[in-house]
Amino acid sequence: MSEILNVPEIFGSDVFNEATMKQRLPEHIYKGWKNCVASGVQLPLDVANEIAEAMKIWATEKGATHYTHWFQPMTGITAEKHDSFITPTGDGRVIMEFSGKELVRGEPDASSFPSGGLRATFEARGYTAWDPTSSAFVKDGSLYIPTCFFSYTGNALDKKTPLLRSMDEVSREAVRILRLFGDTETRRVSASVGAEQEYFLLPKDLYAQREDLRLTGRTLFGAMAPKGQELDDHYFGTIRTRVSSFMQDLDEQLWRLGVLSKTKHNEVAPCQHELAPIYTDANTACDDNQLIMAIMKKCAAKHNLVCLLHEKPFAGVNGSGKHNNWSLSTDAGKNLFSPGKTPSQNAQFLVFLTAFIAGVDEYQDFLRCTVASAGNDHRLGANEAPPAIVSIFLGDELSAIIQSLIDGTNYVEPEKSMLRIGVDVLPAIPQDTTDRNRTSPLAFTGNKFEFRMLGSSQSIAGPNIALNTIMAEELGKFADVLEQAEDFDTTLQKLISQTLKEHSRIIFGGNGYSEEWKQEAARRGLSNLSSTAEALPTYVSQKNIDLVTRRGIFTETEFRARYAIHLDSYNKIVHIEAKTMLDMATNQILPAALHYTRSLCEGVSAKKAIGASCRAESGLIRELSAHTDGLYDRVDGLKAALEAVPADAEAAANYYRGTVIPAMDALRADADVLETLTDKSYWPYPTYADLLFY
Ligand code: ADP
Ligand code: MG
Repeated sequence: MSEILNVPEIFGSDVFNEATMKQRLPEHIYKGWKNCVASGVQLPLDVANEIAEAMKIWATEKGATHYTHWFQPMTGITAEKHDSFITPTGDGRVIMEFSGKELVRGEPDASSFPSGGLRATFEARGYTAWDPTSSAFVKDGSLYIPTCFFSYTGNALDKKTPLLRSMDEVSREAVRILRLFGDTETRRVSASVGAEQEYFLLPKDLYAQREDLRLTGRTLFGAMAPKGQELDDHYFGTIRTRVSSFMQDLDEQLWRLGVLSKTKHNEVAPCQHELAPIYTDANTACDDNQLIMAIMKKCAAKHNLVCLLHEKPFAGVNGSGKHNNWSLSTDAGKNLFSPGKTPSQNAQFLVFLTAFIAGVDEYQDFLRCTVASAGNDHRLGANEAPPAIVSIFLGDELSAIIQSLIDGTNYVEPEKSMLRIGVDVLPAIPQDTTDRNRTSPLAFTGNKFEFRMLGSSQSIAGPNIALNTIMAEELGKFADVLEQAEDFDTTLQKLISQTLKEHSRIIFGGNGYSEEWKQEAARRGLSNLSSTAEALPTYVSQKNIDLVTRRGIFTETEFRARYAIHLDSYNKIVHIEAKTMLDMATNQILPAALHYTRSLCEGVSAKKAIGASCRAESGLIRELSAHTDGLYDRVDGLKAALEAVPADAEAAANYYRGTVIPAMDALRADADVLETLTDKSYWPYPTYADLLFY
């Protein structure tokens, strides 16, 4: 019998959270910390020293011997370097020490992280600084301190810093709007995020036999299994024992770390699962999502499984994404995307909704770019998950309201249409529990927006930075107008209907997969950036640079650095995949098919000697030969393609997309036919049927 888990007792037990701080710190130190968090000022050294001491005592009680500044470099994953607490006493012994200076500032040797040109090689130092709004925690014998990462000259080298900046910015502008509606209390508005995480689990021994999975996280070859996901028998199905004990273990570890893991279920594809936490502020959600991904991988290994976070591990079955649920709420916990119960609350709701619609329409390319990656190219626009065209789904009720607001200005006098916003009470917008429109990239689900274009492996920082920033921008523009208004109601009325009229093209409730939508979207002038290579250049458009610099989220240098890194990472990933394919084709697939062909030929000689029919063998040999010849030629083709990659990064991305990837696809086609022709005992790696239906 296993012990019964006392969840409330273990929850957050490995986190130096507010409750622990309150309990362990002298009151004036605790208040000093709270004050710094609330006002965003630096921690005074005496406060930092006391916190560090309390943290160290707490962490060593939990078995920690080391501490690490945990940060989120622009690679999209996390980084850590561990220092032990030991300090020599001079007589051959050590004591455990940890100072305020060590808590608030670190200097990891960070010269190998991508900086997109932000650090000259002679100035390779990077610094980390504690983000006191995010709690420290103990994991694997180390005290983890969430930090921002920046260069000597103060450029942000990470994903956390701009996320925090964007949260401040959207808060500031949202509070301006709230003041206009008579709210004098709210001091801070926070972006709330709940990120649903999809992933695949495979048996470790099978995974280990596939070079493509080990090197690239996805299968580069593989004929379709006789069965795929057509029966939908996996979705929400019974969770098998091995997986369910993995999930229990995962939940327990996450709960100890204060991650609000809430929902788990099987997904559509075989071996695919999902975990959803309860939403928190965007910064915590981002940290927590990184922890979720890291712990999933580690925990899987413990259960002899491998967790794949790649967007498209298998052709022919669904890939994995991340649904980023986003809303804004006040420090009193009021959700600003909830339609209100009074006319004035409804008008306020419509302001936030309209700002969102305008921002998404105006900066659709920016949003698209935040989810552009080599892995996600297999999903977006590839007849799966949401299309690459950004649009907003509002549902019937809200769409009708929006339409009436737009139409109102056309034929109703201002006074009358003003009444509409001022007096009518909006119907309660039902929560979209049924996932009615799965094809929409950005769906309103009752009181939040669900951004569904994210890839499963990516950091949620980028998309949330974009959502916060465009929202701040539009709210700011509205506040500028409304603060100057002589007649608030009339101005508000005009502003809403005018803005909706300008931006309603982004609203779409139909089937996002259909060919008609592509045409319709083009007619509406919406972007359809169907690949990373096409999308990324729009990232650094003047409009986006103006937005992020005006809003103080990135300097132009920081922004361009991110562009360079995304482009470089795309090119490198495709290059590695192509080289892995060449290796597997040359050293595994071709030899296997040729060995099998030879054994058939030997059989033919033997059978001919006794005059037996060799029709089957001859037929097979002919087919095998056609495809081994084909494979041989495709290998040459891909090799030649890789030798001609242009030096310029943007040209290279286009070349990978337009030349290398088609050569990879052609190579795969021959290899996959060979897999279906070759005796399984000759085949060098587990097939889709082995992997997906273990
Ligand atoms: P489903 O999408 O399966 O119907 P929910 O709508 O309950 O499930 O929630 C999905 C995710 O959205 C969860 O992570 C949840 O915590 C989060 N979520 C719910 N409300 C909000 C909100 N106001 N803001 C941000 N995220 C939210
Ligand atoms: Mg969802």
